[in-house]
Amino acid sequence: MKITQADFIISAVQPHQYPDDALPEVALAGRSNVGKSSLINKMIMRKNLARTSSQPGKTQQLNYYRVNDMVYFVDFPGYGYAKVSKTQREQFGQMIETYIRDREQLKLQLLIIDIRHAPSKDDVLMYHWLKHFNIPTCIVATKADKIPKSKWDKHLKVIKETLEVDPRDHFVKFSSDTGLGRDELWAVITEAIGT
Ligand code: GDP
Repeated sequence: MKITQADFIISAVQPHQYPDDALPEVALAGRSNVGKSSLINKMIMRKNLARTSSQPGKTQQLNYYRVNDMVYFVDFPGYGYAKVSKTQREQFGQMIETYIRDREQLKLQLLIIDIRHAPSKDDVLMYHWLKHFNIPTCIVATKADKIPKSKWDKHLKVIKETLEVDPRDHFVKFSSDTGLGRDELWAVITEAIGT
C-alpha cells in the first residue's frame, strides 16, 4: 500500500467525538507494550505518528488516524497495565464495549499479540467479546523477528489454541522491525473495507 496521507485526527472519549465522515474503521487492541504503536507506524510508513506509549494505561481514549482518506485506524488504549485503577479498568470496558457494539463503521478488528507469549486473560476476554459481537477479526502475531523462524509455528499454535481462534478469522505474522507481514495485513484490511 502506497501511503499518500496519514494524520492523527482526534483522541476521542465519547462517541459524539468520533469522526462523522463515515469512512470505514479498523481498530487495534492489545496489551500495553505489545507493539501496537510500532505496528501503526509501520503500516503508515511514519516513524513516530502513533506515539510509542510513554504513559501506558493512562489514556482511556480512542486515538483516530486517517490514512489515504480511505480508512481510519482506531487505536484502543493498551490493556493489562498493572497500575491502572479499578475505575480506569471499568471506563476502558465501557468505552470499548460501546464502540464495538455500536460502531457501524468498524469493519475489522486487529488483535495484536506478542508472538513470544501465550495470550493473556485480557487477550482471551477481548477476543471472546469480539466474537460475541460478530466483529471480523485479524490476529496479528507481532515481534516475529524476536524468535527464530523455526519456532514460529509452535508459537502460533499456542496462540490459536489459547484464543480458540475461529478459523474464519485472519492470522498474520508481523514484525515492525523487518516489515514482515505489512503487505499481507494491508491486503486483509483492503478486503475488509471493500476497497
Ligand atoms: P505499544 O505500547 O503496544 O504501543 O508498544 P510499542 O509500539 O511502544 O512497542 C513496545 C516496545 O517493543 C518498543 O520498545 C518497540 O521498539 C518494541 N517493538 C515493537 N514492535 C516490535 C517488533 O516487531 N520487533 C521488535 N524487535 N521490537 C518491537
